[in-house]
Amino acid sequence: MPIRESQEIADVIVVGSGAAGGMAAWNLTRQGARVTLLDAGERFNRAKYWSHVRPWEWRQREARGLHPPEFYLSTAEQPYETPPGRPFDLIRVWGRGGKTNVWGRVALRYSDLNFREPALDGWEIPWPVTYAEMAPYYDRVEQLIGVCGGTDDQPWLPGSKYHLPPPNPRCGEYLIRRAAHRVGVSIVHGRRAVVTREMNGHAKCHFCGACGRGCDIAAFFNSSDYLVDPALATGRLTILDNAVAAEILVGDDGLASGVRYLGRRTRDEHVIRGRRVVVAASCVDSTRLLLNSRGARYPNGIGNSNDVIGRYLCEQIRFHIQAFVPELIGARTQNDDGISGGHIYMPRFVPPGGKGRDYLRGFGMQFWGFGAQAGASFAKRLPGFGVDLKRAIQRRYPALVALHPYGEVLPRRENRITLDETRKDAYGVPLARIDYAPGENERKMAGAMYATCEEILHAAKAEVLPYRRGSLDVSGGAIHEHGTCRMGADPKRSALNKYCQSHEVRNLFVVDGAAFPTATEKNPTLTILANAWRATDYLAAEMSAGRV
Ligand SMILES: Cc1cc2nc3c(=O)[nH]c(=O)nc-3n(C[C@H](O)[C@H](O)[C@H](O)COP(=O)(O)OP(=O)(O)OC[C@H]3O[C@@H](n4cnc5c(N)ncnc54)[C@H](O)[C@@H]3O)c2cc1C
Ligand code: SF4
Repeated sequence: MPIRESQEIADVIVVGSGAAGGMAAWNLTRQGARVTLLDAGERFNRAKYWSHVRPWEWRQREARGLHPPEFYLSTAEQPYETPPGRPFDLIRVWGRGGKTNVWGRVALRYSDLNFREPALDGWEIPWPVTYAEMAPYYDRVEQLIGVCGGTDDQPWLPGSKYHLPPPNPRCGEYLIRRAAHRVGVSIVHGRRAVVTREMNGHAKCHFCGACGRGCDIAAFFNSSDYLVDPALATGRLTILDNAVAAEILVGDDGLASGVRYLGRRTRDEHVIRGRRVVVAASCVDSTRLLLNSRGARYPNGIGNSNDVIGRYLCEQIRFHIQAFVPELIGARTQNDDGISGGHIYMPRFVPPGGKGRDYLRGFGMQFWGFGAQAGASFAKRLPGFGVDLKRAIQRRYPALVALHPYGEVLPRRENRITLDETRKDAYGVPLARIDYAPGENERKMAGAMYATCEEILHAAKAEVLPYRRGSLDVSGGAIHEHGTCRMGADPKRSALNKYCQSHEVRNLFVVDGAAFPTATEKNPTLTILANAWRATDYLAAEMSAGRV
C-alpha cells in the first residue's frame, strides 16, 4: 500500500493528547503555533458513559448485551513483553485525553525537597529544575484545571492559595486522621483535580462518586475537555484521530522532520511533516516511539547516542490494607460517595538524606474505598457463613477504611524498556519489552510503610483484615511510569535538557513523565502538566527567536 504524505508542514507535531500532549497543544496554539496533534485513539462519547448507572441496572444492561465504554487498551491489541518472574502491569488508555479520562485525580505538587533530594543523597542524577522554577506553573495549572485541597503546607507537600474548597473527610477518614495524629503522623486534605466550585465554564461536581467510569459532566480535569477543545477553538489545531505514530522521521540535517504513522482502524501508512516534534504518548509509548526511530544517523533511536533512552524506568511500590473502625461498626449506613477516592492524604514525613533509616527516599499514603461503597468486596474475606456472616457484613459495611501507601522506587540503569525485534504489533512496530523490578532499597522502605499503617490502625483500634506483611502490588500498578528519557544538566547521563529538549536533536521535545529523573512518592500528573507548560513556553520562545 502506498504511503500517503501530507503536503502541509506543521509548526509543531504533538504525539499524544493526554495530560502532556493536551497541555503542549493548548499552550502552543494559544501562542500562535499551528499544531498537528496525533492520537492513537479517538474522542470518548460522554453521552454513552455509565456514570450514573445503578448496580442493579448495570447487571440488567449487561444481561442485554450492553457494555460501558471501554477506556483501557487491551493487550490483545497492543501486547508488550516482560521477562519471566518480573511481571509489569502496563495500563494504557488510547483515546483523546488518554488516561486523564479515568485517572484518580490526586493532584499533588512535588515539594522543594522532592526536587533537591537526588542531589542531596547522590543517587543517580539531580533534577535540573527547582521548585521555585516550577511553582509559578503549578499556580497556573491549578487555576486552569481546578484542584480542590487545603492551604495546609507541609515540608513534603506544598499547599496552594489556588486550591478550591476541599470536601469534608468522611466519618471513617475523620477517625483515621485522628488516630494518625495521635501517633504523630500528619494527615491533610487530599488535593484532587475535581471542580468543587464552578470554574472556567466547567460544571461543579455533584458528589456522585462515579469518577472511575468517566465523569459525564466533566467536573474533573481531563485533557480532552479542558485542553484539547480550547486548543481546537483557536483554529490552529489539526487533530488526527486513530493515528498510531510509529517513527519520528529525520532530515539530512539530523533534525526531526515529521512522523510516520498508521491508521489504527485502516492500517494504512501516512507521513506528516513538521518543523518540530513534541513527544507526549505517555512514558512507555513515548520511549517505544523514540527507540523505534532509528536509521543511519541515530542507530540506537533518535536522540539516544548516549544509550540513556529506555533506561532508569521508575515508579512506585504500593500495597493495600483494609480494616474496620470500631465506632462505625453497626452504625447507620450513609452516603459516602463524595468525590470518589480519598478526601484525605498522608504526606511523606521522614527527613531527607536517609538519616535515621536504612533506605533512601520515602513514601506518602492515599486513603480510598472508605465506608459505604457500591459493592462490599471485603465480604469474601470475613470468616463465618450463613446468617451470622451476613450480619457481620452488614454491620461492617459503613466501617471500612483502607490504607494505600506509595513508596518511591529509585531509578536504576538496569530497569529498562527495550524493543523486541522478533515480535511486532499489527503495524509492524516492535513490541516493548519492560524489564523492571524494585530493589533492596524498596524492600526496606516497604517495611517502614507496613509499620506506619500498623501504627495508625492500632491507634484507631481497628479490626484489620488479614494481610501478608511485605507483599507488594505487581509492578506498574501505580500507573506512574517515569525516567526513560530523563532531563538533566549532563548530556552524557540524560537525554533532555531542563526544558525537555533533546540534547542531540534540538527540534525534538519529550514532555511526559519519561522526562522525570525520579518518580518521587507522589502522583505525577499535576507536575506533568506544569512541566509540559514550562517546556512548551520555552519552545514557543525559541521558535519566536528562530533558534528551533
Ligand atoms: C485508573 C488510573 C488512576 C490514576 N490516578 C492518578 C492520580 O490520582 N493522580 C495522578 O497524578 N495520576 C494518576 N494516574 C496517572 C495519570 O493518568 C497519568 O499520569 C497521566 O495521564 C499521564 O499523562 P500522559 O500525557 O503522559 O499520558 P496519557 O494520559 O496516557 O496520554 C497518552 C496519549 O498518547 C496517545 N498515544 C499513545 N501511543 C501513541 C502513539 N504511538 N501514537 C499516537 N498517540 C499515542 C494515547 O492515545 C493518549 O492519548 C492514573 C491513571 C489511571 C489509569
Ligand atoms: S463525583 Fe464529581 S467529578 Fe466524580 S463523576 Fe461525580 S460529578 Fe463527576
